[in-house]
Amino acid sequence: MSFVRGLKCKECGQEYPKEALYVCEYCFGPLEVEYDYAAVAGQISRDVIARRPQNLWRYRELLPLDGDPTDGLNSGFTPLVRADKLARVLGVRELWIKNDGVNFPTLSYKDRVVPVAMSKAKELGFDTVGCASTGNLANSVSAHGAKAGLRRFLFIPHDLELGKVVGSLIYQPTLVAVNGNYDDVNRLCSEIASKYRWAFVNVNMRPYYTEGAKTYGFEVAEQLGWRTPDHLVCPVAGGTILPKIYKAFQEFERMELIGPVRTRIFAAQAATCAPVVRAMHSGQDFVPPVKPAPLSESVDTSLRIGNPADGPYVLEALRETGGWADMATNDEIVDAIRLLAATEGIWTETAGGTTLAVTRKLIAAGKIDPNGSTVVCITGNGLKTIEAVQHRIGAPMQIAASLKSFEQVVLGGGASERAAAGVAG
Ligand SMILES: *Cc1c(COP(=O)(O)O)cnc(C)c1O
Ligand SMILES: [Zn+2]
Repeated sequence: MSFVRGLKCKECGQEYPKEALYVCEYCFGPLEVEYDYAAVAGQISRDVIARRPQNLWRYRELLPLDGDPTDGLNSGFTPLVRADKLARVLGVRELWIKNDGVNFPTLSYKDRVVPVAMSKAKELGFDTVGCASTGNLANSVSAHGAKAGLRRFLFIPHDLELGKVVGSLIYQPTLVAVNGNYDDVNRLCSEIASKYRWAFVNVNMRPYYTEGAKTYGFEVAEQLGWRTPDHLVCPVAGGTILPKIYKAFQEFERMELIGPVRTRIFAAQAATCAPVVRAMHSGQDFVPPVKPAPLSESVDTSLRIGNPADGPYVLEALRETGGWADMATNDEIVDAIRLLAATEGIWTETAGGTTLAVTRKLIAAGKIDPNGSTVVCITGNGLKTIEAVQHRIGAPMQIAASLKSFEQVVLGGGASERAAAGVAG
């Protein structure tokens, strides 16, 4: 049974059928999925959701399929970890890490949006999928598409990190490195999507794709015991996930699954590419595009989108919730990655470092109340961005394969006698 009414322009309200459409013919606004909320309210409850398998489809009445899901049956429902050690360092009372760095199977939040877009693409009769990606999205489309047996054309900027390139190629898609930055790649994909009948998950399937991001917010609310936090800090690239977390909270409130939402939502970007932060700081309600700093000067590459498609909706969510936005320097990002690893045992990629670094700044600036609860959105895994930290974490101690060498080098001067005494005693 489907609760999807159709698509609707976010700007002018014009209605469209539930097809592979994404832009309004009248005003060029983005299209969004419309649900029959009255019908959904009669179907879901905390108990119904809690009894379902722990994957992203446990909220299926609020996701845009007409039939049963076919992809992502092991994706989503990632850990929400209480981070007391990190909280002490940051000087706050209640801190949580929502860790999509262990999302299945490609270790980023993209394993939520891709199964939703892909299941929908199959419903609409597509046999070929594609995407424009800064890396993680291509990994996810590549893996989920392999499992689904779909043809895959993936487009990335030519200069991505090795981990993200290999992380797509391993699943044997057609991977195309475009000589340009992400914004060039995205433009090219729009042209291809209008000429070929392929489902580009984040272009012509975008209304469905973005709905998948709500599951991150649904899970936060459910895992906190059916409530939302006082503050939530979220990274911004194309601007999909942040407004969709807000929408998820609002939908749960509307379905009476949670009480009134009072969460302040905050946006995090890297100083090397911060169009949304700059727009927020200068009081604009649109996002003037920026040219990202060269790759060689940018630690954070996942969020490196100079012209975010959903930027205005990020600004709207920040303003409506009383939140704010800030950016982190390369050094702050690397420090935050190391801090999260050393305190909570979680290794995140650069986007997560950016988000935690910005959280620290917001606490220091008094924008986050240390007595309230805060969720930090960790959206990707550190294994994919080894380059960012490899020269900043020291090296192994080198020894010969002997006890003598171990005691001299590792335990150091005098330590061998103490160790010997300990063994003898
Ligand atoms: C894609 C991505 C984001 C956010 O992207 P949006 O387009 O703003 O939703 C955040 N973190 C990581 C690791 C990502 O791959
Ligand atoms: Zn319109």
